[in-house]
Amino acid sequence: MPFTDLGLSEKVLNAVQTAGYTEPTPIQAEAIPHVLARRDVLGIAQTGTGKTAAFTLPMLTLLENGRARARMPRTLILEPTRELAAQVVENFDRYGTNHKLNVALIIGGVSFADQDAKLMRGTDVLIATPGRLLDHFERGKLLLTGVELLVIDEADRMLDMGFIPDIERIVKMVPFTRQTLFFSATMPPEIERLADMFLHNPQRVEVARPASTATTITQRLVATGSEGHAKRERLRDLIRGEGELNNGIIFCNRKRDVALLQKSLVSHGFDAAALHGDMDQRARTTALDAFRAGETALLVASDVAARGLDIPAVSHVFNFDVPHHPEDYVHRIGRTGRAGRAGTAYTLVSPEDSRSLGAIEALIGQPIPWFDGDLSTVAETSSETGTRHRGRSSDGRRSGRTAKAGGRSAGEASGRPRARSGGGTAAAARAETPPRAETPRAESPRAESRPHAETRRVETLRPEARREPVREERGRRHEAEGDTPIGLGSHVPAFLLRPVLAKKDK
Ligand code: AMP
Repeated sequence: MPFTDLGLSEKVLNAVQTAGYTEPTPIQAEAIPHVLARRDVLGIAQTGTGKTAAFTLPMLTLLENGRARARMPRTLILEPTRELAAQVVENFDRYGTNHKLNVALIIGGVSFADQDAKLMRGTDVLIATPGRLLDHFERGKLLLTGVELLVIDEADRMLDMGFIPDIERIVKMVPFTRQTLFFSATMPPEIERLADMFLHNPQRVEVARPASTATTITQRLVATGSEGHAKRERLRDLIRGEGELNNGIIFCNRKRDVALLQKSLVSHGFDAAALHGDMDQRARTTALDAFRAGETALLVASDVAARGLDIPAVSHVFNFDVPHHPEDYVHRIGRTGRAGRAGTAYTLVSPEDSRSLGAIEALIGQPIPWFDGDLSTVAETSSETGTRHRGRSSDGRRSGRTAKAGGRSAGEASGRPRARSGGGTAAAARAETPPRAETPRAESPRAESRPHAETRRVETLRPEARREPVREERGRRHEAEGDTPIGLGSHVPAFLLRPVLAKKDK
């Protein structure tokens, strides 16, 4: 179906043509006519599907009639993170070149004064994160009674970030008669409840199975010990061993690990930037822009900061930690393999991660193959020699792969990812890289025999899990899913971890 059949205005169609889009994506083809018909829409779609244009294009068409009044925005788009909000502004800039609309970005971390001035001028499109929007409202600078159309984007992420009470407050301030567009990548029961509450007779539009991962992504699990230094060393080996690494995002579960890992990578000669929620807005934007422009090859990020970011052509994703929420795995690895390109996703798995891993494999409906052995190897090596994966780093397979990456040895401290050493920019290198087929890497025979590997993993996990205190915070959904544990499974109750005070002899 061509764009011209969707009912969009001439101005919008011209902008779409300038953007170089020839055909609407499935979510656009399905959602746009309903938005133009003023229907509420429940869109179940991940980022990367063209979801943003699915609401910005018809909004631009609808906004061609009418004018904005001071402090009373005509439309409101709620986004969970500042980066996503900024990305939506970029979309309005791109598709709205033929319109004279006032678009305001209301996010935290920047001064109120400029935002106040924008709101005073009258806003056609207000794009906001919930907290800062409420701040403006409480300061009396904003009235939401003129909102004709409300977009709630990334609703499941809003839930994860604890924004739902804010969203419910905001929705109460917007007229009941508004049109509502509600997007979420997944539909857990709490999100279904909100959709029922916020939407009137919505048109449901679903473009992909929420849990599906692109077939162009080569996924591999990498066995590692639990300690930070062991994981960092394993990661460095992996990066150095990847001959075709143009750029990559490395995900950590905790913000403090993002900062620590980035510093560690830089100290080992890698070109890495950090992106996490505690950084100020300027630093976040600088890091992201440098990565997008191909000036930085590696971006170490937390889920919150990286969710939904539109970064085309990322060749690699590394999960430094197994995510607690299985959906996060899908989102993380979805940063690569976009638009039919080939991508590679490695996940470091330590003995504590068996439950989270089980939940991920259950969600995506397939086992993820191991790269170079599995966890039983870690435990075996550990019990025999007291070291974890040294043995594997020095075996024939690993050195063979390292040679492919330009003859650097795994232990070479100054090694850099190929994007930085291959001559030319990462962007240029990306353009030249042909899509890579799903070729099996040098994997151990154990990895081919999945059921056996699974059994071994469970057996070797248990003593390990008891030795290591479980410090990670467990997510709600993480608790609800995964393997049926034996006894306490890998969970160690907090009271068992308290130091025991020995009684003094009198
Ligand atoms: P989104 O899902 O909104 O994050 O969009 C993902 C990417 O798809 C963005 O880089 C858009 O510029 C791009 N895109 C959106 N619509 C189309 C289209 N109809 N054809 C090709 N690319 C598109």
